[in-house]
Amino acid sequence: MTRKLFIKTYGCQMNAYDSARIADVMAPHGYSLVDDAAGADMVVLNTCHIREKAAEKVYSELGRLRRAKEEKAANGERMLIAVAGCVAQAEGEEMIVRAPLVDIVVGPQVYHRLPEMVAKLSRGEGRALDTEFPAMDKFDALPGTKTAPGPTAFLTVQEGCDKFCTFCVVPYTRGAEYSRSVAQIEAEARHVADLGVKELTLLGQNVNAYHGIGPDGEPWGLGRLIRRLAKIDEIARLRYTTSHPRDMSDELIDAHAHEPKLMPYLHLPVQSGSDRVLEAMNRGHTAEDYKRLVERIRRARPDIALSSDFIVGFPGETDEDFEATMALIRDVGYAQAFSFKYSPRPGTPAAVARKQIADNVKEDRLAGLQDLLRRQADTFAAACVGREMDVLFEHRGRYADQLVGRSPYLQPVHARAPERLLGRLARVRLVEAKSNSMAGELADMAVAL
Ligand code: SF4
Repeated sequence: MTRKLFIKTYGCQMNAYDSARIADVMAPHGYSLVDDAAGADMVVLNTCHIREKAAEKVYSELGRLRRAKEEKAANGERMLIAVAGCVAQAEGEEMIVRAPLVDIVVGPQVYHRLPEMVAKLSRGEGRALDTEFPAMDKFDALPGTKTAPGPTAFLTVQEGCDKFCTFCVVPYTRGAEYSRSVAQIEAEARHVADLGVKELTLLGQNVNAYHGIGPDGEPWGLGRLIRRLAKIDEIARLRYTTSHPRDMSDELIDAHAHEPKLMPYLHLPVQSGSDRVLEAMNRGHTAEDYKRLVERIRRARPDIALSSDFIVGFPGETDEDFEATMALIRDVGYAQAFSFKYSPRPGTPAAVARKQIADNVKEDRLAGLQDLLRRQADTFAAACVGREMDVLFEHRGRYADQLVGRSPYLQPVHARAPERLLGRLARVRLVEAKSNSMAGELADMAVAL
């Protein structure tokens, strides 16, 4: 009997990848994905714990699910509710107490055990909680993807983090750094390539710390892994995220210089431009180190575009510290960037630090920083107008003969294009920069790359 499975994903791309794998895990047990929680037999909330708001969102969503679950029960049916991901990992027991309507609480390292937990529930063995960091690699227990994810896909190559930045929960919710073997990653890449994937984004909380065992029995770095995956003919593009400046190896920078399938777009979080704040964050590098690294990367790949992450209002941040961040942004110049007000996370050192910054000061600094970043993004987009780029068309646009895809710089590009180019790369001339996308026209209708 087919059962309806609804998965709501919060947070990062790795959660998006995990949600797709959770669907793969439940499919052999008769669960197929639906787009709406109403009427679902099982609802999975795959959660994010990175900021306060993110965790609270889960409890308000559970509040909304209460009625749907009660309506199912009134019809003599059962709706299972499972909370997965980083809030499940961080709150485990507390969630079981705080949210009685939740049947399963499962951490990000053990979601391959969901079928067993559901079976135990159906045998009346009560609510299930599993937030273990198992010795055995969950990836060995995950069934292969059956459904074509479209022309682009995420692929987790590394998980966890050993950096312990003082504001971050990841080392506590995702555990120690773990890298999958090259053989396992290559097999999954070939599998999704056979399903029509043209672009792979390699994922890791600290992806450039990748050190998986290669076929020669030696640890391989991310640069070497990328060159290996680039040998898969069907894969036309490779990307990776999220990196730490301290793990940008020569080998990886060399891959940017010499591997044409590696896209010229790098997300390299710096968080702050103040050495005092970087030290308090335990980032392990200075603003000068970061700028020198950016210069090395730009020498290797002059057409590369950069994005980053910024936190304003970190405990103790002064006006001078904030100005140092603004100065770094002006020096580097970003095509894109994500910026946040510091949010104290339970269990992290910075959450109990003295000199917490007032929210109105955070708001002001964030507004100033986002204005500068917005102007830089607009300048970058404007500089792309008139250039020709390869665009991978991913889906239909708003208009009948319009397709939407991504440029090498991850810019959304919409253009009038024939249906047959869906899932394919085509040369496009960028003709206009819009607020969050580019308008383009096919450079050559006849030639579909
Ligand atoms: S490197 Fe990234 S994931 Fe790791 S602790 Fe720092 S911010 Fe968190």
